[in-house]
Amino acid sequence: MKISDLLYNNKPSISFEVFPPKTDTSFESVKHATEEIAKLQPAFMSVTYGAGGGTSKYTLDIARNIHDEIHVPTLAHLTCVSSSKETIHKRIEEFRNANIKNIMALRGDLTPELMNSDRNTWDYRYAVDLIHELKEYHDEFCIGGACYPEVHPESSSFEEDIQHLKEKVDAGCSFLTSQMFFENDLFYKFVYRCRTAGINVPIIPGIMPITSASQVEKSISLSGSYMPTRLKNIVNKFGNSPEAMKQAGINYATEQIIDIYANGFNHVHVYSMNKPDVAKAILNNISNMLG
Ligand code: FAD
Repeated sequence: MKISDLLYNNKPSISFEVFPPKTDTSFESVKHATEEIAKLQPAFMSVTYGAGGGTSKYTLDIARNIHDEIHVPTLAHLTCVSSSKETIHKRIEEFRNANIKNIMALRGDLTPELMNSDRNTWDYRYAVDLIHELKEYHDEFCIGGACYPEVHPESSSFEEDIQHLKEKVDAGCSFLTSQMFFENDLFYKFVYRCRTAGINVPIIPGIMPITSASQVEKSISLSGSYMPTRLKNIVNKFGNSPEAMKQAGINYATEQIIDIYANGFNHVHVYSMNKPDVAKAILNNISNMLG
């Protein structure tokens, strides 16, 4: 099932992101956690590529397991910047052979090593280069792209970032998924700017439940997202009590999701961080709202 076919449904729906294991030894526990999340029957699941501490070699295994065993549509992420064309085409063929129809085409972050290397020697400089190549598979894949409601950290302006985003959509992205944000108004303003710039594909809001105090610093430093005072106060008050913080974080994410639905967006992607209990609690909180 192509994700683009799910996104025009006018009833609220939810999907979850998981990440692959870091090592062989954690493979079974990650597989189990991702299966538990898939059993909640979200609209689809995405599996990151190397991000969140996992390694790229397991993306296919986890995505294939969710797709084949639990029958949940799967979106496999693929980053290109540190790879050769040969490796990328090998990965695409593997996804193709596993009947994975949805690929999130990403550049990937620039490591210090890449930053110091000669960019003319890279096979891929931007996500758009990968999107062009995926389009050579004659619409076999539904292609997604990343977007940044608070601007990508490397961009010098919103205008420049949105112009490059439009290039990705024009190259063949059928939908965009956003970086996490904790203040919904920032997302709504961003979508308005995209529409004004002629970006008309569905834009899926990405929601990260903050369920521990230690997660705050990591999430904010990775994403550069603005942290509203309301969320800061929650962390200050409950950060030292793991169960209370988890409950408060789930409720904060739930409120964001309800507000998003109420504002006319019917699909939300939740960064579940491989935590079935968090995914389940959020789903329970909104169960009567889903289509
Ligand atoms: P691009 O779209 O290539 O953009 C990167 C920067 O280059 C932006 O500033 C953009 O404005 C600029 N740019 C684009 N085109 C041009 C051009 N032609 N000329 C000049 N500038 C240009 N990382 C992982 O490693 N694995 C994952 O699985 C993963 N999943 C993600 C999922 C989502 C939803 C998001 C939001 C991010 C994810 N990331 C992942 C992180 C992502 O790889 C980084 O944010 C990365 O720095 C940018 O990737 P991109 O695909 O957005 O890049």
